[in-house]
Amino acid sequence: MSNYDTVILDIEGTITPITFVKETLFPYVTSGLSAFLDRTWDTSELKSQVELLRAQAKKDVQDKVEHALLIPSETEASAEEVKEAVIKTINWQMKADRKIGALKSFQGFMWKEGYESGELRGVVYADVIPALEKWKLAGKTIYIYSSGSVPAQKLLVGYTTKGDLMHFFSGYFDTSVGLKTESQSYKNIAKLINKENDTNSILFVTDNINEIFPASEAGYQVVISSRPGNAPLGPESEQFKIVTSFDQIQ
Ligand SMILES: [Mg+2]
Repeated sequence: MSNYDTVILDIEGTITPITFVKETLFPYVTSGLSAFLDRTWDTSELKSQVELLRAQAKKDVQDKVEHALLIPSETEASAEEVKEAVIKTINWQMKADRKIGALKSFQGFMWKEGYESGELRGVVYADVIPALEKWKLAGKTIYIYSSGSVPAQKLLVGYTTKGDLMHFFSGYFDTSVGLKTESQSYKNIAKLINKENDTNSILFVTDNINEIFPASEAGYQVVISSRPGNAPLGPESEQFKIVTSFDQIQ
């Protein structure tokens, strides 16, 4: 790696163990869902979250998506029936690990309460913080690009077991700039940070080879993060630099 002045980091499998997402964040939603709905049912924010889920459910039923079911309105059904439909909707979508806006938004809404109450704390690998400090000290600009929504990213790095890390990051990107598997998304980010003619000065770190190729194609320098619990890397990874700890990134 040489002469980069900008760093863009993936979260899951790169700075955070995949197990934190699969074994802490997701179960937090599924196991606490019913009580959470009871607690927040009459709030306007919950109502707007349910409205998003309802619109998505309607579309899914029209598109004949497997497991999809309608969420009735409160004029058509009792609150209990609406709640039951919301729970079923969230459960099947989470089982399918669906990357859909309404679900991501709802998860973020629930996680917010968990992080703010202290029940949830983001986990970041110990070697990441010294690297962030080193980059900052060297005057580099650091961003996040993750499939999780920007509000969920901010919660994860804002409430970690090692404190609030938000001061390290100059911005956050999610799939609203495009999918992480498409080269155009990396060009879009470069444009947004005024680096469109200088993509080689950007270093992107991720665990996913399907993100490494498009970032590299967009002109970025790339590093693969290999962490315990990540999906195994295939032979096509060997042409890139692979690190098991951020202190191996010079
Ligand atoms: Mg990842």
